[in-house]
This record gives sequence, structure tokens and C-alpha cells, in this order.
Amino acid sequence: MHDSPGLMPPAVSGRPTRIVVDLDHLALNLRNIRAHVGVPVMAIVKANAYGHGLVPVARHLQAQGVEQLGVAFVEEGIALRQAGVTTPILVLGGIFGPQVAQYIAHDLEITVSSLDKLRQAEAAAQAMGRKAIVHLKIDTGMERIGVHSYSSAAFIEAAVASSWCTVKGVYSHLACSDDPASPMTLQQVERFHEACAHFERIGAPMPLRHLANSGGVLHFPETWLDMVRPGIVLYGVLPDPASKRTIDVRPAMSLASQVVYFKVVRAGHTVSYGATWTADHDTRVVTVPIGYGDGFPRSLSSRGEVLIRGHRYPIVGRVCMDQFMVDIGGDSAWNEDEVVLVGKQGDEAISAEEVARLAGTIPYEILVGLNDRIPREYRGGDTGR
Ligand SMILES: *Cc1c(COP(=O)(O)O)cnc(C)c1O
Repeated sequence: MHDSPGLMPPAVSGRPTRIVVDLDHLALNLRNIRAHVGVPVMAIVKANAYGHGLVPVARHLQAQGVEQLGVAFVEEGIALRQAGVTTPILVLGGIFGPQVAQYIAHDLEITVSSLDKLRQAEAAAQAMGRKAIVHLKIDTGMERIGVHSYSSAAFIEAAVASSWCTVKGVYSHLACSDDPASPMTLQQVERFHEACAHFERIGAPMPLRHLANSGGVLHFPETWLDMVRPGIVLYGVLPDPASKRTIDVRPAMSLASQVVYFKVVRAGHTVSYGATWTADHDTRVVTVPIGYGDGFPRSLSSRGEVLIRGHRYPIVGRVCMDQFMVDIGGDSAWNEDEVVLVGKQGDEAISAEEVARLAGTIPYEILVGLNDRIPREYRGGDTGR
């Protein structure tokens, strides 16, 4: 009768709203990605591991033997080192000069994206008497950070000649790989190879070449090279509606809450701020204690849906900072009934991709938007430790 997927433990105390991360799905996704590409994996755990929790996710990936981790900012790398994570970590973002010494002090690999930044890394390394490990960033069309592929020869030469920087990697970032039909990706691959050819030309060993984000991993074998850098697909979510499910991956995150209020709204009465939704007949409405203050998008106002007792029901009226309302029509629901916002309940499921579409955004923004006001719970992960 009560369709519970077993997501929620009896909530004796603590917030009824929670994120549940399935570590076994994360491990399965990593395994299936590896089997698909056949090269080492740099698991991207920036932005709180796409909302899944930086440290627990990184620890679990390390236990699965992932070759490398990638973060956006030096602070994220330091947090991992302080939590005892020993896997090599590349900081993907461009360096901010005054922070360079911190990378080296915490054994974090540096993205060097210009000749100037190479000099900054060298100077810091020399001052500390300890070599910096760097990955050279080549711009092949993203125009974000990196030295343009067509003028990267001098940059590569300077990096190879540096006595204080060890060039471990060379990489670029894909702008359109989410769409398997976009011609841009192969053009970027070609530009990247042209830039890398300079290592051979000057007789330097070829560093680790990496190019593939999730879209590259899913759609373009030409981008796999020596290592891949999947983010969102590792969490079991596809980057774009145009993306193809070429790998069996399962969502690692569920988001659920519980009913905290039940009432009947009379015909003609409105619900929530701005009185934007009006009941056209007497109907039952429940209140759910999560809102945009948790990162649940306000754009889901009168658009999103949730699962209660295995059925889909619409969010009615505006999503508030801490709560929103759901119209259950003539059905019943009780206080403390589980409300699934992302995940499965009975035979129904709501994916992060669906939530993103209804909210008018991409699944990335939904996942990383869920903030630390929501407690996270971890399931599985007992094997392989
Ligand atoms: C975020 C990021 C990735 C991962 O992107 P996904 O689309 O989530 O796979 C890979 N490489 C770089 C440089 C990034 O910034």
C-alpha cells in the first residue's frame, strides 16, 4: 500500500529532507566508464562532487582505485588532502598567482595556462625548493583558459625546458561534445594533435594527453587519448538532452523529503506567494519542507512534479525559500509520507535531467545547486574496501 523505496530511514530526529548518495552506483559508473574507454580516469569532483559531497565521494573513488581526481579550485584540493585523500589531484582552474605556493605545499597538480603562469609556478617552486607538477592547458576552441593551439609552440618549449616544473600532462577542453552531431569536437581534436606534435618535434617525451569530458567519453572515441575526465556521467546523469546513453550508468543521487502539512484548499482559493495558482475545485494540498534556500529551483513553481505513494503530483504555486506545496487532488497522503523530488518511488522515477528540463536549465545546475543545508547520507560502498 505504502510504496516506499527504502530511501528514508525512520526519521527520529534531524531534517526530513535529505540527499541519499548510492556509492555502489558511483562505483558501477566508474567501472563501466573505464570498460568503455579503456584508459585511466580522472574523476571530476569539483563543486562538492556535483552536489554529492566532495570528501565522501573522493574517498570512495580512491577506494575504487581511480587514477586521478580533478577539482576546479585549489581550496577543493586542499580540503581533499586534509581529509587524507592521497590520489593525485589536478586543479583544473587557472591559477591565481598569490595562491601558487599552496598548490605545491599540498601536493596538488597545477594547470598552467599561459607563459606568465608557467613563470609563476616556476618561481614558487624554486622558492620552496620543491618541483611543481603541471599540466599545460591548450585552447582548441573553448576560449576560456589556455594557450591557443596555433601559438603554443613557444609555451611548450618553455615548459619542457623548465627546471622547476615537471610537465605531467597536456590538455584541452571540449565545447560541444554533449551533442554527438556537432562537428566542433573533431576540429578540436585535430587542433589538439597539432599542438601536441610539438613535443615530438623538439624531441621531448609526450606527457599524458587528456581531452574528454562526459560528452567526449559518451560520444567521441577520438578524444579518449591517454586519460579521460568525466564529471556528470560519473554521477549517472547525462550532460544534455542530445546526449546518447552509450554507457550503462545509474544516478547516484536521490533527493527526498517528507510531508509536513496536509489541508484542503477550497475552490477559488490561491496557493503561495503572488497568488499565482488557483484551485478550480476543492482539492487536497500538502506542504513539503524544502525550497530555493536549499537550491531547489524556484523556476519549478507550478511546473515541477514530485512522487508521493508512488504517484506523480504537481507542485502548485511558487516554490518558497524553505517549502512548497503539492496538489494531490482527491488522493490521500499523511504527514511524514516520503516525497521524492529526484529518484525512484514504486514504479515511478524523476530524473535530474527531467527536473532540469522543467526548470529550464541543465542537470549540472540542479545537482551542484543543492547546498549544504540538506544533509547527505551514503549507502552501499561496503565492497572493495
Ligand atoms: C568540469 C570539467 C570536466 C567535466 O565535465 P563534465 O561535462 O561534467 O564531464 C572536465 N574537464 C574540465 C576542464 C572541466 O572543467
